[in-house]
Amino acid sequence: MKNLQMYIGGEWKDSLSGQRIDVKNPSNGEVIATIPRGTKEDVDEAVQAAQKAFRSEAWRKVKPHERGDLLQAIADKLEANRDELAKLESLDVGKPLKQGYADVDAAIRYFRFYGGAADKLMGDTIPIEDGLLDFVVREPIGVTAHIVPWNYPIQIISRSVAAAIATGNTVVVKSAEDTPMTAMKLTEYFDELGLPKGVFNHVTGYGYEAGAALSSHPGVNHVTFTGSVQTGIAVAQAAAANVVPVTLELGGKSPNIVFADCDIEQTLEGVVRAIIQNAGQTCSAGSRLLVEASFKEGFLAKLKERFAQLTIGPGLEDKDIGPILNEKQFRRVMEFIELAKEEAEIVAGGKQVTIEGSEGGFYIEPTIIDNVNPESRLAQEEIFGPVMTVFTFETTDEALELANSTEYGLVAGVWTKNIDKAHYLASRIDAGQVFVNNYGAGGGIQMPFGGYKKSGFGREKGFIALYNYTQVKNVAVKYGI
Ligand code: NAD
Repeated sequence: MKNLQMYIGGEWKDSLSGQRIDVKNPSNGEVIATIPRGTKEDVDEAVQAAQKAFRSEAWRKVKPHERGDLLQAIADKLEANRDELAKLESLDVGKPLKQGYADVDAAIRYFRFYGGAADKLMGDTIPIEDGLLDFVVREPIGVTAHIVPWNYPIQIISRSVAAAIATGNTVVVKSAEDTPMTAMKLTEYFDELGLPKGVFNHVTGYGYEAGAALSSHPGVNHVTFTGSVQTGIAVAQAAAANVVPVTLELGGKSPNIVFADCDIEQTLEGVVRAIIQNAGQTCSAGSRLLVEASFKEGFLAKLKERFAQLTIGPGLEDKDIGPILNEKQFRRVMEFIELAKEEAEIVAGGKQVTIEGSEGGFYIEPTIIDNVNPESRLAQEEIFGPVMTVFTFETTDEALELANSTEYGLVAGVWTKNIDKAHYLASRIDAGQVFVNNYGAGGGIQMPFGGYKKSGFGREKGFIALYNYTQVKNVAVKYGI
């Protein structure tokens, strides 16, 4: 078991409080490490270190292409340690090992993508009049705070930190208290790079302490928050008091819309993967199946067959479905399953699974709930488990209405061979990403990602995310001889 430390101003540190938080393996409940319980004072130290680094000549003088090289060097380190990191992510989050590999590969790609982009963000010149040169530059915004959820730690830290450093900012990460392990490895790699002290900082601790202190700190210039709607609102309110912009990547209740004319094998594969990935503990999980009425019976029968074949077990055993993060999350999912027994119909799964030798983990059968009232909590709220709710539609407009009937708008899937229906829906669905005859596009590092409605605002991923971490300066120069 490891007693890990925070990283502030280029030094490894314990919390000033001296207190520690246990980190557990979700697959069996065993404690695998402890992290410092960071306080307001620790956060203050980290933000001050990041401010000092941001204002230092040492950081200012690092050229954009050199920042790119630093990010590429992190990608190299991630790649060199791919096996170790994938296992660590699987151990820490409970996700199947192949998912751990997919997450590490995505992290590598973020560092490569933003490493390559670091010297390609260009400005404009604006024609005003003869003798006046007007130009627009994008400057770094300052100290950027990155508050991260527990479900995809290495991916989510990498996606925003790489973009923030590419554009010349300094960084304070607040990792998730339940899953800090790969974030710690990443911190080691940053330490080994020999960056100016304070460019990269990592504080650990509870959200209501360290997270709240970071989002409300007056020395922070931008907050990237990924997590639940409720916390996102608190973070946005805290940042608003300092007139600081936030990027909010929040939850979802994403629909997969299945038409009778779909390619059935491709659709089954996509629909199953969209809900079982990370045991359904995914912001963009395809948690609502909207299926054309005439097609429902046959499709659901095949879906049930697939669900019955899925294997469940500890992350490192690399089954199809791993455990739920912890008892609290497990109880939440089971509450929804109990609700389904009262007001809908469970047509597959619905029970806890005990795994021999891993009795301390919380496992749930992949579950399908049919006959759900679209206004029910089952249809409206993020369940965050391997639980799919089913709805039927007769017409394309009915499908559209159902798709848009929640407060969320993160992702949607449309499965049809009819190009008219596909484009019609893609243009009218309230979601930041629409996938036609696929779901997720293999992670899509290059594609803007973020929510409509309560799924958040601002976009991560792709070139567009670089704008989160820059501010625009217009310079007008009058000249003449
Ligand atoms: P959460 O909101 O409980 O916590 C997220 C982070 O915020 C954690 O680091 C936590 O410590 C911190 N935090 C908690 N309270 C805080 C406060 N008052 N002030 C500042 N920080 C605080 O979310 P979670 O349970 O870790 O993650 C699951 C949620 O994240 C789901 O809703 C999921 O959909 C969402 N999510 C969204 C995306 C996306 O990119 N859109 C990706 C992954 C997860």
